[in-house]
Amino acid sequence: MSWLEKKLDAYSKLGGYVKPDLHQGALKLDSNENYMIPKQLQADLINHAKKTADVREYPLGRLDELVQGIAKYAKVPPYTIGVGNGSDQILDLILANFASHKTRVLCPSPTFGFFEERCRLYGLPVTSVPFSAGMALDIAEFAAASKQADILYIDSPNNPTGFQFKRSELRNLVESFEGLVIIDEAYAEFASHTISGMAKSRDNLVVVRTLSKSFGLAGLRLGYMVSSKEFADVFTRVLQYPYPLSTMSIEMGMLALQKSDAMLEAAQAVKEERRRVTDELRKYSEFEVFDSQANFVLFDAHGSYKRVHAALLEQGILVRRLGKVGTHEGCLRVTIGTKAMNSRFLLAVRDLLQ
Ligand code: PMP
Repeated sequence: MSWLEKKLDAYSKLGGYVKPDLHQGALKLDSNENYMIPKQLQADLINHAKKTADVREYPLGRLDELVQGIAKYAKVPPYTIGVGNGSDQILDLILANFASHKTRVLCPSPTFGFFEERCRLYGLPVTSVPFSAGMALDIAEFAAASKQADILYIDSPNNPTGFQFKRSELRNLVESFEGLVIIDEAYAEFASHTISGMAKSRDNLVVVRTLSKSFGLAGLRLGYMVSSKEFADVFTRVLQYPYPLSTMSIEMGMLALQKSDAMLEAAQAVKEERRRVTDELRKYSEFEVFDSQANFVLFDAHGSYKRVHAALLEQGILVRRLGKVGTHEGCLRVTIGTKAMNSRFLLAVRDLLQ
């Protein structure tokens, strides 16, 4: 085999990140998108971009204005911000440039699938701390394991469990660790705290965030990170592509950030609906339902998870079928949608189980 054939062969053995199935017309409660954001907002953003964008040109100065907008929203200085084509791309760039075959990565298990997949792609040695039966992580266990690691990755809240370490626990972990800490706060607006304010004063902390979830703009592919001035400078000037975001994303993102009050209201509504969905699912003895700080709820449907998933799909309702998560055999993850979407899901569950 030539070197190229060998390389292709090795890559082809990796599965790649498996995207969710596409079911046209189904109620999409499988991908942690945010339908609580009104469709009108999307129309406003598109109309605004139509007026302001000139896609004949490379996006130059407007990216700096977007960074100013993100900084204002995140209440951090603009020089601590880096942007990317979704937080996926930011995570990828960090791994591609700061890790080698010898860089030991520690993360929770389970964790965000894309991150694990990228570690596999780069051949990084990964160890993980498992969730308890109650779907919680033990900070002491995580801190002990961190002694053997160079990079810590924590999705906070975690996907798919919805668990979040306390703020003080995260602060102590970051302060006691010498390597790089990546805190992925994709779901921060649905949680009770964020540690992005800490990043500017810690040279080993990168907090990764996104407009995909809270702003309901997954299709825009707009992520950002908050870090020390030095890290953000290297990231933006050297590692990141010269034009990581399209003009349309920049223009739409800027207006979305100006409308962040409406987004935060929608996030509050998601949290209220999360309470309702959790409480309702807990009424069924067939399910074990875990507390979540994100815009989804994980539950163990035990031996009947395949049947529940298939029966919901027959009703045109799509939830994520995870199966084994930690010690739990039959997990399903349902995204919190609008009140009407959630009610449809809950009714379908009731019809199935009663
Ligand atoms: N981090 C976590 C924990 C996620 O669950 C997701 C989305 N599935 C992402 C990052 C990626 O978000 P983005 O759309 O910004 O790439």
